[in-house]
Amino acid sequence: MIAMLIREEAKEIPVFYEADICVLGGSCTGVFAAVRAARLGARVVLVEKQNSFGGVATSGLVNVWHTLHNTEFNREIIAGLTLETIERLSRIGAVAEEKKSHSVGFVLNTEELKIELDQLTIENKVKVYLHTMFVAPFIQDGELQAVIVENKSGRGAIRAKVFIDATGDGDLCARLNLEHRLSSHFQPSTMCAKISGWGINGELQDDMTGNNSLIGLDIREARLLYKDEFNLPEGFGWGRHVPATKDTYMYAGTRVYHANSADGDQLTFSEMEGRRQVRAIMDLVRKYGPDNKIALVSLPSYIGTRETRHIECHYRLTGEDVLYGKSFEDSIAYGSYRSDIHHQDKPGLTLRYLDGEQVYMRPGYPNEVSRWRDKIAVNPSFYQIPYRCLLPKGPYTNIIAAGRMIDMDEDAFGGVRVMVNMNQTGEAAGVAAYLALTQNKRLADIDTGHLRKTMKAGGSIMI
Ligand SMILES: Cc1cc2nc3c(=O)[nH]c(=O)nc-3n(C[C@H](O)[C@H](O)[C@H](O)COP(=O)(O)OP(=O)(O)OC[C@H]3O[C@@H](n4cnc5c(N)ncnc54)[C@H](O)[C@@H]3O)c2cc1C
Repeated sequence: MIAMLIREEAKEIPVFYEADICVLGGSCTGVFAAVRAARLGARVVLVEKQNSFGGVATSGLVNVWHTLHNTEFNREIIAGLTLETIERLSRIGAVAEEKKSHSVGFVLNTEELKIELDQLTIENKVKVYLHTMFVAPFIQDGELQAVIVENKSGRGAIRAKVFIDATGDGDLCARLNLEHRLSSHFQPSTMCAKISGWGINGELQDDMTGNNSLIGLDIREARLLYKDEFNLPEGFGWGRHVPATKDTYMYAGTRVYHANSADGDQLTFSEMEGRRQVRAIMDLVRKYGPDNKIALVSLPSYIGTRETRHIECHYRLTGEDVLYGKSFEDSIAYGSYRSDIHHQDKPGLTLRYLDGEQVYMRPGYPNEVSRWRDKIAVNPSFYQIPYRCLLPKGPYTNIIAAGRMIDMDEDAFGGVRVMVNMNQTGEAAGVAAYLALTQNKRLADIDTGHLRKTMKAGGSIMI
């Protein structure tokens, strides 16, 4: 019989680096956290398991950032490093803006984004480790003192005084055994793909799906009609052309249901099943889309994970807080993207807007429009994310979460999860880490008024 547990031998490992602040995970959330703390003067180290920064946007190919305005498009609510990055990418033609769109604000060339994020870390003297995976926390005297990482050099430690968990999945919090949960309806993962020959850049695109330029074939109808022939689950597909390319289209049209990306086996299954579905879509278009000479240009480095763990924090943001635009004294981020729930238990998605409207979209069927609430005198035009949602409960006072793992219920997560919002949580975590460090305070004890002022001074909008 094979023993189910083995004991790993204790051994001494080198300390790779010592910093004030250690950020784990280098999507824009993590990079922006690192850059904001470094700009204030902290010595910052940033650890990313992939070969580049950007997370789902780059390694997952998701090339859309939403508007920086409120729902009425008459008030700017987001600036900071999100705006700065858009401006930098604009200078090289790597962004296309879709003004006043509730579905799409900016379409990015996310290969250029990878290079821009490298530049940001270099300019701000952030020590970076790519191809480096966080694997375990190091606790001494009851305190989180270091993290253990692994890369081509082997296993080593990174010491720091404050830690930011920006791994998306909350790997550091989970390994610390901090309370966390996986929603029973966690949103399914999607393998994106870049496909050439999909259509001609610049043609008018459908506001929601962007896919009406697939010549000779209504992809939504075709997928429903031929789903059994190609073993394609019903779900939802959308996409966008890659800015300044002739005809390269990013299509997010697969769905891997009931597979948790924070589980090694299930993630492995998702990757291969996602790729199988991309092949099935290609085969379908090759067979039934006679005018399309499509080619698969690239697959992502990993499947796009929408949702895994949420960390139990000092406050859980609710759908009601978001959809009624509740104000918080300790707000550190703002958003206007509607609650957008990709279903786990049925095809399609449900959108809940701040004006009370609700739309259930199931590709190939008419949209079902209703209301999630009655009309009210004045609709909120944006929502707020409080600092407390980033602060994990538990014994460790020098750890803060940023990104999709923060504490929110399913409805809140539906809207808050998008990148322009997550970016701001990174910036807040970076500034908060700097203040805790320099004031010798626990992250939970910093003055949130001071946090907001410091964020504003660094370019964030604070309302
Ligand atoms: C298919 C799909 C479509 C989407 N569409 C949009 C959209 O159009 N617009 C939008 O704004 N949002 C969209 N989203 C949502 C958005 O992309 C995510 O919610 C957002 O990227 C979450 O940011 P994050 O920083 O929390 O996590 P991630 O982007 O997942 O980044 C986590 C980072 O941490 C790294 N990491 C993880 N574990 C470790 C470890 N142990 N050690 C070291 N590094 C680690 C990862 O490699 C990654 O770089 C979409 C998501 C998916 C999956």
